[in-house]
This record gives sequence, structure tokens and C-alpha cells, in this order.
Amino acid sequence: MGEKKLRGRFAPSPSGRMHLGNLFTALLAWLSVRAAGGAMVLRIEDLDPERCTRERAETLADDLEWLGLDWDEGFRRGGPHGPYLQSQRSEWYAECFRRLEEQGLVYPCFCTRAERLAASAPHRADGQAIYGGRCRDLSEAERTERAKTRRPAWRVRVPEGDMSFEDGHMGRYTEDLARDCGDFIIRRSDGVYAYQLAVTADDGAMAIDQVVRGMDLLDSTPRQLYLYHLLDLPAPRFWHVPLLCAEDGRRLSKRDGDLDMGALRGRYRPEELLGKLAHLAGQTPGDGPISLAELRAVFDWEKVPKDDIVVHTGKF
Ligand code: GLU
Repeated sequence: MGEKKLRGRFAPSPSGRMHLGNLFTALLAWLSVRAAGGAMVLRIEDLDPERCTRERAETLADDLEWLGLDWDEGFRRGGPHGPYLQSQRSEWYAECFRRLEEQGLVYPCFCTRAERLAASAPHRADGQAIYGGRCRDLSEAERTERAKTRRPAWRVRVPEGDMSFEDGHMGRYTEDLARDCGDFIIRRSDGVYAYQLAVTADDGAMAIDQVVRGMDLLDSTPRQLYLYHLLDLPAPRFWHVPLLCAEDGRRLSKRDGDLDMGALRGRYRPEELLGKLAHLAGQTPGDGPISLAELRAVFDWEKVPKDDIVVHTGKF
């Protein structure tokens, strides 16, 4: 029997056109898997019906194809672990939700956003509130009473104590979920399953071994590892990569319209854009054109920077 092939994934949210930052992460995810001869999966994370449309998912897949970042399984291709759109996978999330409920770990939270912010003195580095546990120990009677006027969100209880993992690129990362995060939401009050639950349920079910994604998700990882453990799903190894920033230190985002794929495709050929991305990723001394095949042959994680990368937006 041959050795099991490494499985990686792209898991973009089609909430707008991809921009340089998304592309940078996608390229590293692809290179890391392809350089190791692995398989790639494309899963569309379109849980938020307000922001994500089918049309945007199609454009996203077109943009990846234009650049040559191909995938073996997933959106447009199908495969044994489908469907590959999160909007079609709620039965699986409901099943995972039930498994957590059966362990007595899920409770309804009636806090409004304003209450949550007011009740949580400290904030995480990324500005998210640390949940203080206001609704954790409500009695059944109190829950019934509050449910008359408000649809609750659902939280999972977290344990106290340090949780650590070894990031493939960034090294050891440690968090105490109770102190640094608090019980977190796994289903929103509008019924939509939360990112933390869905991404864990899916990477687990799709047998993903390697997750390469932006540094902004490093501190989601302990929550996800906790869910893998509770759901008894196999956890992937995580590799977090630096974010691209503008000169003022602000993270590049969908607001930088001149760096989105619509604009970039008008300015560059795929190999020119790849050359620039590869240079930002520390893979090549210059930023001239390069093919994916050439890049795959030289790809080296050791050369990928660890700090945020400044992009001279006006000159790109
Ligand atoms: N869907 C998330 C995003 O587009 C990425 C999720 C992940 O890589 O875990 O930001």
C-alpha cells in the first residue's frame, strides 16, 4: 500500500473579490501541498448568507484557475467529501452541535452585543471581547423567561488551563481558553453555525492534514483544537503565514480595490503576479515572472517571512 497523500485546502469566504492578501495565503497553501506531492481541496466558506453569494464563489474559483492554483477535489470538481459549499452542510454542523450538547457543554446566551462588550473588561489583541460568562449559569427558569423575548446564540464551555500547539511556521503557541477567550459561540442567534464550529467540522470530515492560513487565525486555533478533541475528529497540522499590510501598517483588505483580483488581472499576466507574490514570500531574490512549476521546485518554508509584510500599495 502506498503512503497516504498529504491533503491541504483552500477555504475562502466569497464575501468579495479576492485581494492580494488572500492570494498570498492561497499561493503558500498550494505550494506547501504541491511541493510535497499532496492533494488540494477547495471548500467555499459561504455560511454568512448576507455577504456570500454563489456568483462571488464562481468568480473566486475563476480567479484561482486564472493563476493556475488548481485543486483535485471540491467546488466545481466534486469528490467523496462533498458538498463543498458550507451553505449546504448544515446537517453535518447540526450533528456536531448535538455531539457537544450531549456532553453538557452547550448553553444559550441571551446577551446583546452591547451587553457583551460592556461585561467584558479585557479585550483580546484583535479587539474581540473576552466573554465573561454572564449566561453560563442561568437556571432553566431564567432561560425559559429570556427565550420569550430573545433568540439566543449558543456557546460551548471552555476549560481552564494552558493549551499549546506547535505551529508549523510560527512555532509554539499557547492560550488559556478560559482566561484569554471565554466560552465561545458555535451557533449564532440567527441560526447560522459559527465559523469555529464549521471549519473544524469540515476540516475533520474532509480528512485535511495541513491547514495553511493567515496569521489572523492563529488565535482561533486553540478553540478549534478543543473542538477537534470534543468531536473526536482528526486535527490537521497548522501553518500560519504573515499578513500583507499597507505602508501605514493596516492590513490589506477588500477595501484596497486596486489590489483586488479584478484590478490585478487587468495589470498583470499570471506569471508576473506570481513573481511578485513569490518575492514577497521570500522565495525568489527578484520579483520577475515565474511559473508555478518553477516555484514549486524551489519552494522552501524556511524562507517565508514571519513578520507582517509591507506592500507598497501605490507601486504594486
Ligand atoms: N474562510 C476563512 C477566510 O476566508 C478562512 C478559514 C480558514 O482558513 O480556517 O478568512
